[in-house]
Amino acid sequence: MPELPEVEAIKLQLGKFLKGHKIVSVEVKNRKTFQGDEKNIIGGKIVGTRRFGKVSVIDLDNNYSILTHVKLTGQYIYRGPNLKNPKSLSPKVTGGVPGPHTLVIFDLDRGGKLYYNDVRRFGWIRVVKTNEVVTEPFIKKLGPEPFKDLTLEKFREILGKSGRPVKIVLMDQEKMGGVGNIYANDALWLAKVNPKTPAKSIEPEKAKELYNAVIEVLKQGIKYGGASELAFVTPDGTEGNYQSHTLAYGHEGEPCERCHKGTFKKYFLSGRGTYVCPVCQK
Ligand SMILES: [Zn+2]
Repeated sequence: MPELPEVEAIKLQLGKFLKGHKIVSVEVKNRKTFQGDEKNIIGGKIVGTRRFGKVSVIDLDNNYSILTHVKLTGQYIYRGPNLKNPKSLSPKVTGGVPGPHTLVIFDLDRGGKLYYNDVRRFGWIRVVKTNEVVTEPFIKKLGPEPFKDLTLEKFREILGKSGRPVKIVLMDQEKMGGVGNIYANDALWLAKVNPKTPAKSIEPEKAKELYNAVIEVLKQGIKYGGASELAFVTPDGTEGNYQSHTLAYGHEGEPCERCHKGTFKKYFLSGRGTYVCPVCQK
């Protein structure tokens, strides 16, 4: 599932491509995907985009906003005047656009189109009043997030309150927003922390290293435009590149580049692939 860097990449590109466009019409091909009344956004001009955890928000000038979560396989693809010389679509855009997996089409002025594709159909789009965005239950319950209000002090406090494995706590969106499996694995390796360590038994100094590691891996993720595992593509139709730069994630059976002694092992923790160097992450 896309994590903070992937959703940040979606938000940034949507902002760049959509700003100034007016929504002319909306074609909803799958009612389950689209919640709320599309009439409320027709005629609205897009003024900007925001992100809360893994939710992107497209704000209009008519006091309405579009909230969206791409979940496992949702993809936004823009084609129009704000993307000059588009590269060819990634093969991850199954069926192309518009295609059999295109569930919503936003017709924009000046010939622009924004397509929403979703093979698995878990993603959603919701029209809400702009002043109700922050009170949406999904957003309201998000924990503090890196680069915003997740301070080191707050991070230590969150760890200190839980006896669960630290990796599970890092990925709990109600404890802290935006960190999913790939970046949790990499941050734990970077800080030399065993993913199974009970969160509250992590010493304050180690918690600081882990906090810095979380920030660092997310920064790297953003720098590479996210990781295109599964179906992730950015709205220009191309793939992110972090998957070629992961530290621990996906390295099963490979030697650890830091200690040169351990070989990465993989196991499942709460059903999610967990990668550790048995030497560095005792
Ligand atoms: Zn190692």
